Amino acid sequence: MAGEPQADCLFCKIVAGEVPATVVRETETTVAFRDINPQAPTHVLVIPKVHYPDAATLAEAEPGIAADILREAAEVAAMDKVDTSGFRIVFNTGTGAGQTVFHTHAHVLGGRGLEWPPG
Ligand code: C5P
Repeated sequence: MAGEPQADCLFCKIVAGEVPATVVRETETTVAFRDINPQAPTHVLVIPKVHYPDAATLAEAEPGIAADILREAAEVAAMDKVDTSGFRIVFNTGTGAGQTVFHTHAHVLGGRGLEWPPG
């Protein structure tokens, strides 16, 4: 069923507590944890507890939870005090864009200067 946990999904396992992660925030609908391979001083992933492969499919099926992720991304930026200097929210969508884990996740990046366009 749409949104149900997937047995082969790494981030579903993090949601279930079966794979360790440095969780920094949790809400009824989301979990935020530090990226295992940080690309900036602040690099946190915000994920929905439900399983959808990418941001577009989540937004279509559960727009409220998509909004929760954006709200949580801002909370993470405030928690790490990068909200005033500027931060970036990235949803890699599809292999061509660098997506490697097919459970929706927002990268929250901050704490250093961020160039544009990204690589
Ligand atoms: O956008 P993309 O799918 O490439 O992002 C996946 C992210 O998940 C990577 O930044 C990777 O470092 C992170 N990751 C993690 N913990 C894991 C496995 C992957 O933080 N156990």
